[in-house]
Amino acid sequence: MKERAMGRRELLRFSAAGAALATAAGASQGDTPESERAGAKTVTTHADVLVVGGGAAGTMAAIQSARAGADTFLVERGTQLGGTTTTGGVAFPGLFDAWGRQIIAGIGWELVRECVELDGGALPDFSKVPEHHWMNQVRVNPFLYALLAEEKCAQAGVRIAYYEFPQSVRETAEGWMVECAGFGTRRRVFCRQIIDCTGGAEVVGLLNLPRLREAETQPGSMLFMLDTPDDPGRPAGALESLYVHGADSTNSRTVTEANLAGRKSILEKVRREKRRLTHLQPEAGFRESFRIDGETLVTVDDYTSGRMFDDAVCYAFYPVDLHTRGGVTPKPLRQGIVPTVPLRALIPKRSRNILVAGRCVSSDRLANSGLRVQASCMAMGQAAGAAAALAARENTTPLNVPLEEIGKTLRMHGAIVPPDNGRG
Ligand SMILES: Cc1cc2nc3c(=O)[nH]c(=O)nc-3n(C[C@H](O)[C@H](O)[C@H](O)COP(=O)(O)OP(=O)(O)OC[C@H]3O[C@@H](n4cnc5c(N)ncnc54)[C@H](O)[C@@H]3O)c2cc1C
Repeated sequence: MKERAMGRRELLRFSAAGAALATAAGASQGDTPESERAGAKTVTTHADVLVVGGGAAGTMAAIQSARAGADTFLVERGTQLGGTTTTGGVAFPGLFDAWGRQIIAGIGWELVRECVELDGGALPDFSKVPEHHWMNQVRVNPFLYALLAEEKCAQAGVRIAYYEFPQSVRETAEGWMVECAGFGTRRRVFCRQIIDCTGGAEVVGLLNLPRLREAETQPGSMLFMLDTPDDPGRPAGALESLYVHGADSTNSRTVTEANLAGRKSILEKVRREKRRLTHLQPEAGFRESFRIDGETLVTVDDYTSGRMFDDAVCYAFYPVDLHTRGGVTPKPLRQGIVPTVPLRALIPKRSRNILVAGRCVSSDRLANSGLRVQASCMAMGQAAGAAAALAARENTTPLNVPLEEIGKTLRMHGAIVPPDNGRG
C-alpha cells in the first residue's frame, strides 16, 4: 500500500487545518487562558534540529546533531530512551561487525561499549567470525543503557521531552512548526530540520509524504521470563517471547491492542503451564509497520549483493530475517558481503528538510528485514544527525549538503563511513 504524496495546494490546506487545530486547542498567542482552563500549558521551543523518537536511531541522531553544533530537541512519546532496546526488552544490539572486522562504530558503539564496561560484562571479539550471526550481538543492561543514553544527551546539550508526540507539522519560511501534545502540555516546536526516528515514520505520515506498508506485517513480540529468578539488568539469557500477530506501532489504539493481546497470551501460558511470571516488558516490540518511499529504495538485491551506493553513509549487517506466522529462518549474507545504506534512503521522496533513520528506512520488505537491526539503526541515526546538523548550519536541505562534509563529520565523531573498513 502506498500513501499519496501531498500537492502544494493540499499542503497549504493541511497547514490551515493545523492552524485551526492549534486555535481550537487554545494554542495560539493570546489564547492562553483557554489552554490553562483545559489544564494544558502551551510552551514554545526553538531548535535547529528536532528528533522525534528516542530509540536506537533517534538517540544517536540527537547526540550526533548536538555534537556537531546544532541546537537539538528530542521528543519521545515513552518514558525513557532506547525504544525497542529498553522498553521492548531487545537488549542485545547487533551487528557491529562483519567477517572479522568492525563495520559500525561511532556513537552507538560508544554507548554500547561503555554500558557493557560499566556493567562488568564482556564484549565480543570482532576479529573472529562467529559460528552463528547472533553470537556477536552485544548484551547490554537495558537500565544502564537508558541512563547512559540520557547522560550522553545531556552532555551533548540535547534537550528531551518525554510523554510528547507530534500532532501536526507545518512548513514555515525557516523550516517547520511542529505541534506536539503531552499530558498537561501543548508544545510548538519551531525548527529547521526534522529527523523522524519513530520506527514507523509517523512524522512523514503526518506530512502525507509517501510511505510503504505490506498488507500483512511481521509479528511483534512480547518479552517475558518464567520461573527464572529475575536478575535485573541481565535478563537476556532466560528471556522468552510470544509472537503478537498483527502488532502495529502506528498509533495509540494499535499499540494498546498489541499490548493487551501480548499480555493476555502470557497470562494464558502462566495458567496453562502453572509457572511463575518473573519478568515482563512494559510494551510489545514491533518489527514492522511503515517504511518511507525515499529518494532511493534499497532492494533485497542491493542488500544481498552488498551494493556500494555512491552516497553510502554507513554499513549494515544482518541476515535477511523475515518473521512470519510460521516463525523465521534467517538467510545469512554470502561470505564477504557487507550492505551499505545510502543517504537518499533516509530522505522521503521529493521532500525538503526532513530525514528518517531506523527501521523506517526506504527499503523493500526483505531488505528491511535485515536493515532494521539496532546497530544499523544506530549508524543510520548518526548519519541523519550529521546531515541534519550540517543542513541547519548551511540553511539548506540535507540532499544539498556535500557528501564529503557529512563523511568528514561522521568520521570526526568515530563513525565508520563506506568504503572505510568494509571490504577485505
Ligand atoms: C522482538 C524483536 C526482536 C528483535 N531482535 C533483534 C536482535 O536480536 N538484534 C537487533 O539488533 N535488533 C533486533 N530487533 C530489531 C530492532 O530492535 C529494531 O528494529 C530497532 O530497535 C528499531 O530501532 P528504531 O530506532 O527504528 O525504533 P525504536 O527502537 O522502536 O524506537 C522508536 C522510538 O520512537 C518512539 N515513538 C514512536 N512513535 C512516536 C511518536 N509519534 N512521537 C514520539 N515518539 C515516538 C518510540 O516510543 C520509540 O522510543 C528486534 C525487534 C523486535 C521487535
